[in-house]
Amino acid sequence: MEQSKKQNMDKNFQEERLTGIIKFTPPLYKQRYQFVKDLVGKYKPKKVVDLGCADCTLLWMLKFCSCIEVLAGLDICASVMKENMHRLSPLPGDYLQPNERSLTVTLHHGSVAHKDPCLLGFDLVTCIELIEHLEQSELKKFPEVVFGFMAPSIVVISTPNSEFNSLLPGVTSFRHPDHKFEWNQAQFQSWALETAGRYDYSVEFTGVGHPPTGMENVGFCTQIGVFFRKYPQTSDSAQSEKPTEAVYKTVFRAVYPSLKDEKYLQNAVVSEVIFTAQIIKRSLLARLMSEHEEYNDDPAERKSEFQPSIKCFSEDLEKLVAEKGVEQFVNGNIVYIPLTTIFSFPKVNQLCGTFEKFCKLIAGKVTLSSDGSAVLFNTEHENEEHEIADLS
Ligand code: SAM
Repeated sequence: MEQSKKQNMDKNFQEERLTGIIKFTPPLYKQRYQFVKDLVGKYKPKKVVDLGCADCTLLWMLKFCSCIEVLAGLDICASVMKENMHRLSPLPGDYLQPNERSLTVTLHHGSVAHKDPCLLGFDLVTCIELIEHLEQSELKKFPEVVFGFMAPSIVVISTPNSEFNSLLPGVTSFRHPDHKFEWNQAQFQSWALETAGRYDYSVEFTGVGHPPTGMENVGFCTQIGVFFRKYPQTSDSAQSEKPTEAVYKTVFRAVYPSLKDEKYLQNAVVSEVIFTAQIIKRSLLARLMSEHEEYNDDPAERKSEFQPSIKCFSEDLEKLVAEKGVEQFVNGNIVYIPLTTIFSFPKVNQLCGTFEKFCKLIAGKVTLSSDGSAVLFNTEHENEEHEIADLS
């Protein structure tokens, strides 16, 4: 926790110190993350990997993007990932209300200069403020790993624009002591165009951190290249010459609860059935009471004489009750709620899809009538519970 605060402070301090004249709002690193989030919102990739993910902040932001089903991070520094990786774990709320989509988050320890099969199959690869940290030998291997081997549909690469440095007080050489180089716009664009051409990608240039008015020629403080693969990957090209040997070490893996998993779907359906059946049961009992009052000879007990008769909660049940009489559904303390009525509720319907699936999911989980056509509720103990609650 302390380390993470310190890292964020370092990040802010670094940029605040550097941007003494120019204050970026929101801070530059947040603008970079937002840029990626917007890209995800636009292209809806299912599988995203962040290379050089550091303290996992971008990954944490991306886990809320509902299109993403596989999220991965890679960094050469295991300790920086480990300090904050707990943020990527599911929270109690994720178990209480599982999401429709599935989500797996994995962190790998290794270098972008090495190929590992766990990097295959991604739609979007993000490299935010990574390349300037690479040694010459690593930078040389980087395009073959990312564009040749991984070959995702989209790659986004951000790096400092050295032309902006003159506007940053205190910057004499590089913005950060670990930077191995900082490129001007022409250098970055020439590298990006050459790389894109070699691997059949197109590239669009943009950035975040606007220069001051009148100084537009210096360009964005952070320059960004967004690469798009020109041709769809065939299964042949995806498989050819891909090594199978794993070189990275997996340091974290979280599988989020999802309604795609039968176990969580069943829990959700059963809770919804019990909730829905309770509502219906109350409306049936209220209906029964109002009918008894209507036919009561004693005017003192006929409280609801001038009240409109109570309707059942669902139209479907209202029809059944009108046809068969409410007594068909309430017998002493036992209340019968037809499965067809529960299934007609939008939430239950949406969760199960078909009536057959609905019946399969609740089998053995709720008490059914002897012919299996209705959920059966015994209200006897509920009243006791209320009495106990009233006394306490
Ligand atoms: N992408 C993050 C962000 O924007 O906040 C972190 C950027 S940080 C400036 C650069 C990260 O790249 C560091 O965490 C560093 O450990 C990682 N890195 C440096 N060389 C690497 C390599 N060869 N392979 C993978 N990660 C590397």
